[in-house]
Amino acid sequence: MAQDNLRASHSDTPIPRVVIVGAGFGGLWAAKALANAPAEVVVIDRENYHLFQPLLYQVATAGLSPADVAAPIRGIIGGYRNITVMLGEVMGVDVMAHTVMMSGGRHVPYDYLVLATGARHAYFGHHDWEAFAPGLKNIEDATEIRRRILIAFERAENETDANERQILMRLVIVGGGPTGVELAGAIAELARRALAKDFRNIDPRVTRIILVEAGPRLLPSFPQDLSEDATQRLERLGVEVRVGVPVTAVDALGVTIGTERIETRTVIWAAGVAASPAGQWIGATGDRAGRIAVDAHLSVPDHPEIFAIGDTALSSDASGKPLPGVAAVAKQQGRYIGRLIKARLRNSERIEPFRYRDYGNLATIGRKAAVVDFGWIHLHGFVAWVIWTTAHIYFLIGFRNRIIVALNWLWAYFTFQRGARLITGPLR
Ligand SMILES: Cc1cc2nc3c(=O)[nH]c(=O)nc-3n(C[C@H](O)[C@H](O)[C@H](O)COP(=O)(O)OP(=O)(O)OC[C@H]3O[C@@H](n4cnc5c(N)ncnc54)[C@H](O)[C@@H]3O)c2cc1C
Repeated sequence: MAQDNLRASHSDTPIPRVVIVGAGFGGLWAAKALANAPAEVVVIDRENYHLFQPLLYQVATAGLSPADVAAPIRGIIGGYRNITVMLGEVMGVDVMAHTVMMSGGRHVPYDYLVLATGARHAYFGHHDWEAFAPGLKNIEDATEIRRRILIAFERAENETDANERQILMRLVIVGGGPTGVELAGAIAELARRALAKDFRNIDPRVTRIILVEAGPRLLPSFPQDLSEDATQRLERLGVEVRVGVPVTAVDALGVTIGTERIETRTVIWAAGVAASPAGQWIGATGDRAGRIAVDAHLSVPDHPEIFAIGDTALSSDASGKPLPGVAAVAKQQGRYIGRLIKARLRNSERIEPFRYRDYGNLATIGRKAAVVDFGWIHLHGFVAWVIWTTAHIYFLIGFRNRIIVALNWLWAYFTFQRGARLITGPLR
């Protein structure tokens, strides 16, 4: 077993150890809530940065650079004396021995374990589609999608066959939720504005962008009027919206939706999600997406010392409706778990069950429109975009990132330019 600088067992000192796996929204907020608590907190993540996923689509569409939407974990929580950050991949959990198993053979004992490992995209059982239709979950995904989009234009510029050129200038996005809608709007503006004058042999403004949704409307988690507004705005940007048609095949030459074949070389996946394998580590039961079913205090049945939060957990609101996989749920659950563990450390009274407070739902469409659902009021257009912009800058971690992103958006707003048009990776 590899050595690390942590004490060897969870019982050889009276200070309890809380191990948090994942420094996304859930894990980071749990760690912050436990800062200066009478416990040793170990935060393990396979990346050395916390990622602000809501702005990942801007990296994928050349609006922002990876460092604008990520911040080093050590820089955020490394200053708290009771928190240790470990870079490494967790491979499993020995629930009997109360030990987390990491790659490289490291074992980390725990008294309390918080699983906050998020989710990945899912292809409804068609794993082979992933090679042709990358999803958007992390920085590598975003730069790969950016590469594919920009390469398509470069190849079209050099293509002499008119039919192949048209195929190269056709992009399909699968999934009409917020990520699909945001990607479609941003790609439309990239093609019609930022790239419009960059080429000699092609006109990027005639690029076909097709957004496919299997359900009856875009943005199914938003009210009907906002969903209709988003559809109209996307169509005005030149996006072809196809709803009610499931994707039945994806390969190197295109996609099949319903019975229609669309030839394309660029497909982006913004559809299903599956939880991380954390449920398998602990042998927990969950739903079809692999989320761990937790009780009202977010702990795993039969394991009051193990908690699951955020996208990897299946928890419900007071009416029994499953909570959505959004940042606000993960953050509130992280904060709650921090308070709950602190209460247990003090042997204080039972803490109330977790209750999610929904402050609203937002999605942006292009450079100056958005939809916002506050429940009691629905907003759309420019006003909604100002709210979306303010909220995203406010919630970004790090003063530098806030300033850089605000300046980038201001620049893009007035010039239509997208400065991060870099092709990284292979030229295929
Ligand atoms: C493209 C996109 C856009 C989104 N837009 C919005 C939005 O606009 N508004 C909104 O509210 N929500 C949005 N979401 C959803 C939101 O980002 C998630 O709900 C939220 O990130 C969930 O937080 P989490 O802590 O559960 O997981 P994550 O934030 O995904 O964090 C999981 C962490 O666990 C780490 N990890 C995973 N497995 C391991 C392992 N085996 N070992 C070590 N570390 C591991 C990962 O590196 C990561 O740091 C978006 C998501 C995506 C992908």
